[in-house]
Amino acid sequence: MEKEKLKKIVLFTGYACSNRCRFCIDADKRGLPERGTGELLREIYSAKAAGADILEIIGGESTMRRDFRVLVRTAKKIGIEEVICATNGRIFADREYVRQVMEAGLDSIIFSLHGAVAEVHDFLTDSPGSFNELLHGVENFRSAGFRRIYGNTTVVRQNYRQLPEIAEMYARWRFTNVEFIFVDPTYGGAYNNFEELVPHISEAAPFMRMALDTGTAAGLTQWKVRYVPLCHFTDHLDHISEINERRLYISEHWAQDFHNDDSIGSRAEVSRRKAAKCTGCSLAGVCEGIWKVYLDHYGEEELRPVPAADLPAFLPGAVENPEKKRSDNDLMKSGSILNKNTETMGHTGE
Ligand code: SF4
Repeated sequence: MEKEKLKKIVLFTGYACSNRCRFCIDADKRGLPERGTGELLREIYSAKAAGADILEIIGGESTMRRDFRVLVRTAKKIGIEEVICATNGRIFADREYVRQVMEAGLDSIIFSLHGAVAEVHDFLTDSPGSFNELLHGVENFRSAGFRRIYGNTTVVRQNYRQLPEIAEMYARWRFTNVEFIFVDPTYGGAYNNFEELVPHISEAAPFMRMALDTGTAAGLTQWKVRYVPLCHFTDHLDHISEINERRLYISEHWAQDFHNDDSIGSRAEVSRRKAAKCTGCSLAGVCEGIWKVYLDHYGEEELRPVPAADLPAFLPGAVENPEKKRSDNDLMKSGSILNKNTETMGHTGE
């Protein structure tokens, strides 16, 4: 019998990175020691024993570890169905390394692209040359015939106007899964430099919606936005990562400094908040609100409670009236939000 939800375990290898992204949630953790190979191999065996369907290996930048291929190969050898890595892409400018990682058995890769041009991407990564290396990395995977290449973009003040151009790049590369992630200012770089980096959602949202529309127009219908208040996306509710992942996954985060057995639920409870204004909003049942730190800085003025009459009929759990709900099973059958075969990507940079 098919499992109700897939179990995804996100394994943090440490926080060392070849980039210095200004908004990085782990900006204040880079000095922590990297985890050892033996420790990580034990974690991979534990992940398998815990029933992981998906293992996502992330850092920092896990791909620059000398043992990265050993970690991937081991996870595949013991039967983990999908091994994913999220990367800044720089090391994959080396075509031979791409070949070796593919040979180790990596199933999927997520490139983090933060600008449509080098000037913006390299500024945000604080790493000259990182844009060109990422582009070479993408091309090396594509030309090697690797199919499951995905993308994510952290949305900040410096790049939100470029989102349509970034979306054009993803569409040209035919990336089936892409996420546009509203920056997380709970701690790290965006917390430390909030005013410089965090845009107002009302200014960024129109560009995020345009980016989604670029994907849809190209036939790439699985693109998503993450960490947004739903009232700014009422016409794109089938493109919300959190709605998607709550139905698809049980997600655990395993790092050296924390262990989270319910990363999806705890994010909603610990880091995000609905405002007084949200009382009575018909989307309150499915919306996680916005970052607490965001509300502390910018207040709740931009939130726009949604009348029930404006809701699409398919959205479950949004309203109190049960007649407006359809079961998750109905949704699974109709595929209106979910597609287990194509939707195994999810942001994990928290
Ligand atoms: S609950 Fe609040 S943040 Fe969410 S959609 Fe409604 S008004 Fe917006």
